[in-house]
Amino acid sequence: MGRHRLSNRVALEPIGESFKIDELKERLKKRFPNHNFNVPAPPDTKCKSPYLCKTNDIKYRDSDGNEYCGLRFKQTDENNHYIWEWKVCHAMIHQAKPVFKQDDIPF
Ligand SMILES: [Zn+2]
Repeated sequence: MGRHRLSNRVALEPIGESFKIDELKERLKKRFPNHNFNVPAPPDTKCKSPYLCKTNDIKYRDSDGNEYCGLRFKQTDENNHYIWEWKVCHAMIHQAKPVFKQDDIPF
């Protein structure tokens, strides 16, 4: 048990890690109160990693022509930041104008 406690202690010590966790918690707090399963979510236009996204030039488009941020970043597990996985930002950078005019819709 003593060893377990020690490893937790060590885990909290690396410089910058606690800041990262706080940032992540803030982000989750902001995300979940607004989450409503009945309403389609508005396009996510907020980059997940603003510092990296600023210089990111990996972008992709969907079939509607919307443009998204394709930045890959490491997302650490909230409970164990030794665990992380690659995530893609997926923020919408540019929303395409509707492709069809009202007149083109055949009904
Ligand atoms: Zn981004």
